[in-house]
Amino acid sequence: MLKKRIEAWVIRDIGLTEFDNWDPVMRFATRLSIRTSIIACTMVASTLVVLHALGVLLNPLLRDLAIGCGIAFIVSFALTMLCSLYMGYAVIHLARTRLEFRQMSRTDMLSGLLNRRAFIDDLSQVERGYLLIIDIDRFKQINDRYGHLAGDDVIVSVAEMLKETAGPPHLVARIGGEEFAILFRDTDFAEVVSLAEKLRRTVANRQIEAVHHTITVTVSGGLADITPILDFSAVYAAADRALYIAKSAGRNRIVLERDLPRTAHIDSPAIDLPDAAFSVA
Ligand code: GH3
Ligand code: MG
Ligand code: MG
Repeated sequence: MLKKRIEAWVIRDIGLTEFDNWDPVMRFATRLSIRTSIIACTMVASTLVVLHALGVLLNPLLRDLAIGCGIAFIVSFALTMLCSLYMGYAVIHLARTRLEFRQMSRTDMLSGLLNRRAFIDDLSQVERGYLLIIDIDRFKQINDRYGHLAGDDVIVSVAEMLKETAGPPHLVARIGGEEFAILFRDTDFAEVVSLAEKLRRTVANRQIEAVHHTITVTVSGGLADITPILDFSAVYAAADRALYIAKSAGRNRIVLERDLPRTAHIDSPAIDLPDAAFSVA
């Protein structure tokens, strides 16, 4: 109990977590140096008073106090300042490395988008919004025809288009090979549908330069509502169900999960879909 309190006090007092630039380090170093100097002066002063009482001092007490405390203050202040700055530099370096590492662990190396794990983490914090899963159509054929490197270029270009169309506050991630996810936040449904449609059109209309080839691709998407009662897998399953229908219905379209009949199941290909569920290519 006491140990925990002391630990909490030390952490709060030192403020190590804020050591990501020089300002908090300087504040900490100055505070600690002043405290140490006061302690050193008090110790020197009390020792001199005792020595004076014992009659050991050769000079007048006031003169010894002034010299002793002055030296103690300057030396302890300078030493503590140096040590604190040295330690602060190490902590800043550590904090920056940790930040870079965290950034790397959240980023998909090919596309530069968020990776699947980071996306799931972020989506779990959100109670309301919309999840759009986007999948490049017939991507295997692109790999087979133009090679894997050209396929990679296509993934990177599609990622850029998604990022360009769905900027902050929305989150864009690559959650699988040629599969992307977008979390739409703080936007109403009509706007999200129009953004999703814009994404689809942008990809379909853009020519991609990929390893000496000019390639055009299309994407299909499934859009689902995020509600507080649904966890990631439930929302993902809903969006994936809509995506599956988009693929079955001919690709290059966005299907809204909320427009699907409740009984629709991914194993039912001859599903009677409302027209509004589709954007026609
Ligand atoms: P559909 O329209 O139904 O989505 O068909 P598809 O061909 O896009 O889907 P499928 O799942 O059959 O093929 C996906 C391919 O994506 C297979 C895999 O080799 C390829 N792939 C997965 N990750 C990468 C990657 O990082 N780079 C490249 N170039 N290809 C990848
Ligand atoms: Mg695909
Ligand atoms: Mg896929």
